[in-house]
Amino acid sequence: MKDYLVRGIVNSKNCRVMCCTTTQLVEVARQKHGLWPTASAALGRMMSVTLMMGAMNKNKEKMTVTINGGGPIGTMLATTNSDGKIKAFVANPEVHYTYNDTGKLAVGVAVGKEGSLQVIKDMGLKEPFVGTVPLQSGEIGDDFSYYFMVSEQIPSVVSVGVLVNDTNEILASGGFIIQLLPEATEEDIQYIEEKMRNFPPVSSLVNEGKTPEEILQMIFDDVEILESQDLFFECDCSKEKMRSTLITVGKDEIESMIHEDHGCEIKCQFCNEAYHFNETELQELLDEMNES
Ligand SMILES: [Zn+2]
Repeated sequence: MKDYLVRGIVNSKNCRVMCCTTTQLVEVARQKHGLWPTASAALGRMMSVTLMMGAMNKNKEKMTVTINGGGPIGTMLATTNSDGKIKAFVANPEVHYTYNDTGKLAVGVAVGKEGSLQVIKDMGLKEPFVGTVPLQSGEIGDDFSYYFMVSEQIPSVVSVGVLVNDTNEILASGGFIIQLLPEATEEDIQYIEEKMRNFPPVSSLVNEGKTPEEILQMIFDDVEILESQDLFFECDCSKEKMRSTLITVGKDEIESMIHEDHGCEIKCQFCNEAYHFNETELQELLDEMNES
C-alpha cells in the first residue's frame, strides 16, 4: 500500500484533522541510513508529523524540523517542501532501547528530553518563521503537541507511531493530528478527550490495514476529507550540489585531497548517497576557485 496523507475538517466538532501512513518511506529511510529499531521509530514519528505539518502550509513553503534532546541518537533533522516529499537523518542511526516493563521501543530514551524542538518555515519573506520549544518527553508526539500549543497557540492532539518486525523492517508507520479551531467549545474538547481515551495506537491501526480516511472516521464519523497527497522519502542531492559543498571546504583542503588522497568521496547526510570526485575533477574545481 502506498504512503499518503489526507487533510480534512470536522465542522460538527470545530476541528481540522490530518492523518497519514508512512510505512514505505520510513522503510526507505531505514535502509538508506541503517537505522536500528528505536532510531527508525524516532525518525519515523518525526517524519510523519513533519509531513502533516507540511500539508497545512498553504504556499508549499520549505520547512525544516530539528530535534535535539541530548540523548544517544543526537540531532534529528527532517526537511520537506510541503510537496509530500521528505528527507531526514539522525546523527546516530545505531541506537536501540526498549522499555523494560512494556517491551516497547524507548524513543524518549534514545532522543532524550534535555533539549529543544525547532521548526523553521521559509515563507519567502525576508526572515523565516522560527519556532523553538523545550522538549517534553522526547517521545515526539507530545513534543509536537506542546510545540503547537506554545509556538502556534493551537491546541492539538498529535499521535504518531512506528512498528518494527523481528528483523528490524518497518511493519507499519503513521499518525494523525487533531487541531481545535478557535470556535471549538468545551463539548468539542470533551468529545475528543473521550475518543482519545483507550484509542488504539495508530501504528497498530496502520498494521491492520486501516487507511488514513478510516482512522479519522473512527474518531469522527462526519469527517470531511478535503485533500489527499502521496508521500515519499526523496532526496534532491546531486553531484553538482555536492560540488558546491566542496567549494566551502577551502582551497588547502582540496589541494590535500588531490595530492594526498587522490580524490574524495562525500556522502549526502540526508540519504547517504556517496559522490566520488577524482583528481581531475578536483583540479578543475580548484582552477575555478583560483580564477574567481
Ligand atoms: Zn541525498
